[in-house]
Amino acid sequence: MNIKVIGHLDKNYIENTFNKTKRLIKIPRNLHIYFLENINLCYSIKLPRNIQKRLKIACSHKISFSFKYKNRGVIIIYMDKVLAKKEDSLIGLLLHEISHINQINKGVYKKVLEDFENIMGRNHQLFMKLKYEKRDLEWLFNDISTISILTLKDIYANNELVKNKLTKYLITYYKLEFDRKICPRPVFYGDLKKSAQYDLDLIRLVFEFELSLISVILPLYKTKRAHELVRYLSKCYESNINKVSKKCHELIILYFRDFKKKNFNKEFFNAVFRKVYSVLK
Ligand SMILES: [Zn+2]
Repeated sequence: MNIKVIGHLDKNYIENTFNKTKRLIKIPRNLHIYFLENINLCYSIKLPRNIQKRLKIACSHKISFSFKYKNRGVIIIYMDKVLAKKEDSLIGLLLHEISHINQINKGVYKKVLEDFENIMGRNHQLFMKLKYEKRDLEWLFNDISTISILTLKDIYANNELVKNKLTKYLITYYKLEFDRKICPRPVFYGDLKKSAQYDLDLIRLVFEFELSLISVILPLYKTKRAHELVRYLSKCYESNINKVSKKCHELIILYFRDFKKKNFNKEFFNAVFRKVYSVLK
C-alpha cells in the first residue's frame, strides 16, 4: 500500500479519506494510489519503461483511472476543487477505482476482452457494409468498441459496490461526475439517421452519453436510490432521460435477464452494435 500526493494538496484530508475508504472495501495487495493536484502532473509519474507509454495514453484521457501491471495495482486520482472538499464524493471515486482493480484480480476483465474479440469480426463486417465513408465507419467502430468495453467494466465495478451496500458513496460521486462531464455536452435526439449523414461523430456522442448513464443506472436499478439519481439526471437533461431509457430498453432487459450468465458480455456487445447499426442502416 503506497499513497503519493503530487502537487499542493491537503495530505491529511487525503489520508483520512483513504482510511475511511479502507474500512468499506477490501484493499487489493500492492496498491499504489497517486493523488494529483492537476491533470498535467499525470505525465510526471515514473513507471517502468514498458508501461510508460500506456500510462501516457491513459493520462491524455483526462479522467481518473486505474490499471494493473505485473502484480501492482495503480490508481490515478485527479483532485479537482470539489473532490478536495466533498469527502463522500472522493470516497465514492476511490471505491469505484479500487473495485476496478478487484475485478481485474478476479479475471473479470480478461473475460470481457476475450468475449469482445469473439464478437468483433462479425459486427465489423456488418458495419463496413453501411453506406458511409469507410474511414468514418472504421473510426466509429473503434470508438463504439472502446466505449462499450469501458461501459461493461464500469457495470461490473459498480455492481460489486452496490452488492456491498456502498450505493450512497457511488451516487454522491456520480452526481458530481455527471455535473462535470456530461451535462454541458449538447446531445440531440432528433432524427439521428438524418443527422448521421452529415456527421457520423454525432452517433458516437449519443451512444457515449447513453452508455455512460447505463453503466451507473443498471447496477443501481434495483436499489431505492436509483430514483434519486434519475431525478437528478432528469433535472440536468430535461426530457432526454426518458428517451435514453426507451432507447436502452433492450440493454436493461438483457441486464436483468442475463447478467451473471456465461454469455452476458457477448450479448451486451452484440446488443450495442445492433443498436448502432439499426440507427445507421
Ligand atoms: Zn470506471
